[in-house]
Amino acid sequence: MSPVLPWQIGDRARLRKPHPCGGNLWRVVRTGADMGLVCEQCGRRLMLPRDQFDRQLKERLAAEAVLLSISNEAADKRR
Ligand SMILES: [Zn+2]
Repeated sequence: MSPVLPWQIGDRARLRKPHPCGGNLWRVVRTGADMGLVCEQCGRRLMLPRDQFDRQLKERLAAEAVLLSISNEAADKRR
């Protein structure tokens, strides 16, 4: 097994199978045996068993992207 960086709350993942809403970007809200994910597009929450999550994972987005996204959201709210 290759070493894997531990997932942290706020990390984002792109999955192979898109959500019915059309989005395929997810924000991690819970880590562990089950991964808690929130769809970035519709905000729906999903629990995925870790092994299934690992199989579905297509791309892991850098934490910096999250910070950038959060600051953009904050900027949008101020407008
Ligand atoms: Zn969705």
